[in-house]
Amino acid sequence: MSFKNYPMVSRVVFGRGSFDQLEDILAPKRINSKAPFIFLVDDVFEGNAWITGRIPLAYDDKLIYISADEEPKTSQVDELVEKIILDHKDRPSGIIGIGGGTILDLAKAVAIMLTNEGEAKDYQGWDLVKNPAIYHVGIPTISGTGAEVSRTTVLTGPDKKLGINSDHTPFDQVILDPELTKDVPTDQWFYTGMDCYIHCIESLNGTYLNAFSQSYGEKALELCKEIFVENSLSDEEMQDKLMMASWHGGMSIAYSQVGVAHAMSYGLGYLLGTKHGIGNCIVFDHLEEFYPEGVKLFKKMKKIHNITLPKGLCANLEDSEFDTMIDVAMSLEPLWENAVGKNWKQTITRERLKELYKKM
Ligand code: NAD
Ligand code: ZN
Repeated sequence: MSFKNYPMVSRVVFGRGSFDQLEDILAPKRINSKAPFIFLVDDVFEGNAWITGRIPLAYDDKLIYISADEEPKTSQVDELVEKIILDHKDRPSGIIGIGGGTILDLAKAVAIMLTNEGEAKDYQGWDLVKNPAIYHVGIPTISGTGAEVSRTTVLTGPDKKLGINSDHTPFDQVILDPELTKDVPTDQWFYTGMDCYIHCIESLNGTYLNAFSQSYGEKALELCKEIFVENSLSDEEMQDKLMMASWHGGMSIAYSQVGVAHAMSYGLGYLLGTKHGIGNCIVFDHLEEFYPEGVKLFKKMKKIHNITLPKGLCANLEDSEFDTMIDVAMSLEPLWENAVGKNWKQTITRERLKELYKKM
């Protein structure tokens, strides 16, 4: 048996207002005046001077606004890389992603593809990246996915939704400034926050669980309960704690795996474009048979925060469409093995997944 040798984010800053340190952090990383920093920024911040006015642009640096309405695609990564190469003679000094999981994943993927040949789709999978990425920085503005700490960047390609999982994927630097999350709308706060909660439940109830994952998972779950159930925290405390919960949830799955909700949510995402956070919620709501305690508490949190999930997503789907979702979900073998064990194929059948999808 070989043990994972897991790469970590090399440097991390934490604190309200720490975003202001970005200039000092980047300065020594500038290769020369022609090698720009490229800032990929969620377009929700366009015209928001409180955020964009603090982005330290100099020389040929470029700020590119990106919509997070859809999850990142391999073709989108390729287009961004081509644009950067065409616009600048020198290889950039770094890529800085400012936004949620969507933008963070794009930043990681672009940093990788600037130093690796071919197209992003060629690297979807495990350990296919050959060359180290260029310097890349992640600055989350919404908490929950763990994308700020993970070794993957989840991309939808022409024939699969799968991450670029590699030792070169994690950020070189992360800035955790919880204040940046203060204007996230409540629904989105819940969906992305629940991604973290579901990471904990799937990790803590999985067959891959070990003391490493458990220590992070239990801490993240405790924080999620404080935030989403107990309701005794100030807004600032909630922002601070959810940012740390996201980090710990990400660390927990780093050394274990996610499970049923993620596998099935990938199916929804691939076929219908359902986004990760809300997709996980829609699926998890129906998984009592797998995670009885976790789902019970989830329903309670939904109620506390007045969240109504969309229904009937799969009501009018053709058989072939169910097949597509089931193919995507079942291809994620490690997730099933973690959730149900080595013999998962005996109990996880196409029919069973179809019945579950039909409820969503
Ligand atoms: P997101 O990045 O898709 O953003 C969700 C919404 O929140 C968007 O409309 C965005 O504009 C808005 N938003 C973000 N910050 C805001 C702010 N401060 N104020 C107001 N609005 C704000 O959301 P997400 O849930 O963080 O990310 C989902 C993506 O993360 C998916 O593409 C998923 O595949 C990916 N993901 C990656 C990993 C990983 O390990 N790499 C893990 C889980 C999920
Ligand atoms: Zn997730």
